[in-house]
Amino acid sequence: MAELFEIPDGTPLMGAVTFGLIDRGTNVIQVRPSTSCPLNCIFCSTDAGPYSQRRRAEYVVRLDHMMEWFRELVKVKGSGVEAHIDTVGDPFTYPQLVELVQEIKKLEEVRIVSMQTHGHLMNERILGELAEAGLSRINLSVDALDPWLAKRLAGTEGYDVERVVANARYALENTSVDVLLAPVWVHPLNDSELEGLIALAKDMDAGRRSPPLGIQKCEYHRFGRRTKEMRHVSWYTFYGKMRELEKKTGMKLVIRASDFGIRPARTVEAPFRVGERLMVRIVGPGWLNGESLATTRDLRWAVTVVGEELPAGEEVRVRLLRTKDSILVGRPS
Ligand code: SF4
Repeated sequence: MAELFEIPDGTPLMGAVTFGLIDRGTNVIQVRPSTSCPLNCIFCSTDAGPYSQRRRAEYVVRLDHMMEWFRELVKVKGSGVEAHIDTVGDPFTYPQLVELVQEIKKLEEVRIVSMQTHGHLMNERILGELAEAGLSRINLSVDALDPWLAKRLAGTEGYDVERVVANARYALENTSVDVLLAPVWVHPLNDSELEGLIALAKDMDAGRRSPPLGIQKCEYHRFGRRTKEMRHVSWYTFYGKMRELEKKTGMKLVIRASDFGIRPARTVEAPFRVGERLMVRIVGPGWLNGESLATTRDLRWAVTVVGEELPAGEEVRVRLLRTKDSILVGRPS
């Protein structure tokens, strides 16, 4: 069982893929306040959930700490920002989710606050509170409407797709929160569900201020989960399938970033290159087994150290293996 680790004050909230903020050079800021998840999806690319085999720690970031860093980054971005709460688990596990949305939405630069979830922890009360706090949209992953298959994909007997859909309808009919259905296409397990999900998006009038549906390609990661029956789908096959379904159903399924108003924006970039060596200080356990969490000496960047579980306080020299999107991963060298 992974230990719950509160990110210590003073830890930089940029540089890690698992917590804090991610800036990929657009007007979207990804906000990751917690890493936990109540489900165990059999296709989970981040190996989340109670039965995770690889997680060493579940992170949580204090609200004040998060907002301190968010305010700085949003100033760089300027107006028209979308804050997208999209964790490596499920955002509904964050105990101060409503307050987080409220604080983000107060900032004049922020136009949209959106969230990515499988919706297992949604209920009418929290949807009402999130609407009042200023949540604009939920991207809701519903991967199958057949209750048995939905449980199987979610890896949890307790997952109730009918309740999730009922809550999504409640949000659309009774609150200002928009809902976009974002099923993951887990070929071939839910091939037969895609048309039903498209029909559901139409029926519930999803996507009032955004596309109603954005089918996601199931991505396989080295540390993610998969089963023997699952088959990898190339981008060529994926878009071919989307066009075929578009013709059949009349629903737009090939979606571009511009459909969400995403555009390039000023960015804060880590000044490092792959292969560069630097000294980092360990501040806590890594997210996965065999990893440690560190910061640069100037406390500007978080660094994931792979290959060793080192004690907090130790200084170590690492060689950077990844710097893309200012996500820093290094190995002791
Ligand atoms: S796919 Fe999402 S909801 Fe499912 S286990 Fe992974 S993080 Fe949780």
